[in-house]
Amino acid sequence: MYSDRALVIGAGFAGLLAARVLSESYGDVVLVERSVITTDAGHRAGIPRAHHPHPLPARGAQALEALFPRIGRELENAGAVRADLGSDFLHRFPNGPAPRDHLGLSVLSMTRVTLDRIIRRRVLRLANVSLVDGVTVEGLLHDRGTVTGVHGRRGDRPFTDYADLVVDASGRDSRLVSWLAELGVHCPAPRIVNGHVTCASRLYEVNRDLELGWKNACEITHAPGTRRGGAVSSVDGSRWLVTLFGADGDTAPADDDGFLDHATSLRCPDVAEIVKTATPASAVHRSGNLRNRWNRFHQVPDWPRGLLALGDSVVSLDPVHGHGLTVTALNCAELRALLQDHDLAAEPLTFQRAVAKAARFPWTFATTADLGWATRRLPVRARLLRWYSGRVIAAIPGHRRVYRAYARVSQLAGHPVTLLRPAVLFRVLLGGKLSGRRPRATAP
Ligand SMILES: Cc1cc2nc3c(=O)[nH]c(=O)nc-3n(C[C@H](O)[C@H](O)[C@H](O)COP(=O)(O)OP(=O)(O)OC[C@H]3O[C@@H](n4cnc5c(N)ncnc54)[C@H](O)[C@@H]3O)c2cc1C
Repeated sequence: MYSDRALVIGAGFAGLLAARVLSESYGDVVLVERSVITTDAGHRAGIPRAHHPHPLPARGAQALEALFPRIGRELENAGAVRADLGSDFLHRFPNGPAPRDHLGLSVLSMTRVTLDRIIRRRVLRLANVSLVDGVTVEGLLHDRGTVTGVHGRRGDRPFTDYADLVVDASGRDSRLVSWLAELGVHCPAPRIVNGHVTCASRLYEVNRDLELGWKNACEITHAPGTRRGGAVSSVDGSRWLVTLFGADGDTAPADDDGFLDHATSLRCPDVAEIVKTATPASAVHRSGNLRNRWNRFHQVPDWPRGLLALGDSVVSLDPVHGHGLTVTALNCAELRALLQDHDLAAEPLTFQRAVAKAARFPWTFATTADLGWATRRLPVRARLLRWYSGRVIAAIPGHRRVYRAYARVSQLAGHPVTLLRPAVLFRVLLGGKLSGRRPRATAP
């Protein structure tokens, strides 16, 4: 232990994992959370996205297991469903479905509520971690370039707390950039790429009369021709979580009729069949503004000592690709590794650079897809990436090796360069092309 007290803003996925890591180096770790966490079950207002699917890919599950031994088993005991990305998955691309051979690469599907509940229980069992809920942090306390705590409100009362290290894990809606500006620290404008994606999700009781032949299904949106997509995950034992996506402003509907219409317009008839025949177990919940945003904190030279940021507070991604949890888990693995040799309160940019490095590929993956909806002419690099990724996607239905390489890369389990290996490159270049023209590309 080289320090006493760490304070984490936000007890979501990033906050809980960060608290777990910090508990190894700090005598006292306190999680400060806006929502009131009264019960172990159910949704809470602080995480509206918890209504949507949060399957955990193999790489994220591995990072989580390193922090919480046997958590995979615990999640499965709570009803999480393990699905192989080949044999258990119906993965439909604009040119057709992916091959269904066993890949040996799985995702773990559960509701976000179940995931958070089990992790929270593990974290709050640690003797030196505590949770203060119902507190909204409104700013940072500081002393000559060092963050020394936070201030905010708990109901009507002011709240102040001090720490040697403050970690912002307050997610997609983090106000850290404004809080830093109040200290006179200015961040570069965030990078934003917006594919104007919305999603709407609803839970259904599993209808055992439907024989589907898969555990999870996914039909991707893909610019320029496929603005609608959908996904079904088997979650929490006996439920299906159906999610409909709309990109480029094609809004996923929140009403019953619209939900069925959208499901019926997908190529995979199973999604509509579920919506028609299964019993709903929740209302339809819709989320919008699912843009990609990257706060480049690693480029702030006068970043204060005593402050770190991770998770969606730094990089929030279009959720269609399901990378957020994995990137966050990798941030926490990095935090743990760096804390072995560094006093990160004194050298916070060492950590922020590692966070930026981990974000680079997921950012490129998500934004390459979303830039396809852009109306402006794209830079050469983006056009090249879009061209090649379009060829890969077009080649997938007929080519097992291409799908295997794509699945590993898209799950962050394989290096992107594997998509350029001769065996894949050859099939990609000889494979078909996607139909559909880019709609409105114009000169700048
Ligand atoms: C619609 C949607 C679907 C998604 N699907 C997937 C998926 O399938 N797979 C995947 O890997 N990722 C997915 N993601 C991304 C994933 O949700 C995030 O990457 C993940 O939640 C990041 O965790 P976080 O802890 O940084 O943020 P959050 O989970 O949002 O947690 C932030 C916490 O901070 C609290 N908080 C906020 N402000 C304050 C404050 N001022 N004071 C105190 N507390 C505060 C909030 O109440 C909340 O508890 C999805 C995201 C969205 C929007």
